[in-house]
Amino acid sequence: MDYQSIINDISDEVSSLLRAGKVADYIPALAGVNPEQFAMTLTLFDGTQYSVGQADTLFSIQSISKVFSFTLALKLYRKELYKRMGVEPSGNPFNSLVQLEKEQGKPRNPFINAGAINVADALISHYGDEERAFREVLEFIQDVSDDKTIESNKVVASSEMEHGYRNLALANFMKSFNNLDNSPQKAVETYSKYCSVEMNTKMLSRAMLYLANDGIDPITGRVYITESQSKRINAVMLTCGHYDASGDFAFNVGLPGKSGVGGGIVAVVPKLMGIAVFSPGLNLQGNSLVGTKALELFTTKTKLSIF
Ligand code: GLU
Repeated sequence: MDYQSIINDISDEVSSLLRAGKVADYIPALAGVNPEQFAMTLTLFDGTQYSVGQADTLFSIQSISKVFSFTLALKLYRKELYKRMGVEPSGNPFNSLVQLEKEQGKPRNPFINAGAINVADALISHYGDEERAFREVLEFIQDVSDDKTIESNKVVASSEMEHGYRNLALANFMKSFNNLDNSPQKAVETYSKYCSVEMNTKMLSRAMLYLANDGIDPITGRVYITESQSKRINAVMLTCGHYDASGDFAFNVGLPGKSGVGGGIVAVVPKLMGIAVFSPGLNLQGNSLVGTKALELFTTKTKLSIF
């Protein structure tokens, strides 16, 4: 298949939509990002990459980091992790408080904010301190991307923290229901630090290869997680990766994927490739508008949806 001309066509087709979305502005450090950007990269199992647009531009991965932190927590805690959180789609916005109260402080899944903050808490407990938990997630991201230059942006992390009232509220709720070991402040700080990791679509699509290949990096041969854990993470990405638009994404794109409010989306084509797209304008559910459209066009043109 001529992947390069397919993604070039996609880039042309989405160009008229670049102003249709709205950049996330509730984290002030992200509000100034130019909305008229687009990038898409495919990484195959032999490392071959096909890119279009600003594929070298770094952006804030935000909730895409939840895939990596969940992987690490699942590896460490195995099934015990599900005592803290479920794996059901939430059908609610990413930072909703209502459901968490109704369900006694047990987040629906690891990809809504409450679940991801709870994952950060589990990592802090395992590693013994906040800084170490953050470093382990960062190193894991560097490992699966095979790129040691990847770092977190301190300005974005503290901007997120300064305005993180909702995330702190979620953490406090969980603490009040005895579903958080450490202080709400520590859990949210650690989570915010790895949400603020910056990557480009080349790095992110490369980082998805272990999930496309049953937990094993097809290039280095490193085994990160078991086949069964990889299967579960892909399933949660498919059903919960786009908050209350997860059904739409499964319907229109048909791949396991995860979005972030920085405008990135990662997706996995099992046994074949990792994909990343970037375009900062978001739709109403906080997912990249053009990124979602580009992935929809991709599975339509290539027939690579899992369905
Ligand atoms: N760090 C963001 C927050 O907690 C992540 C949201 C997202 O990317 O969907 O609000």
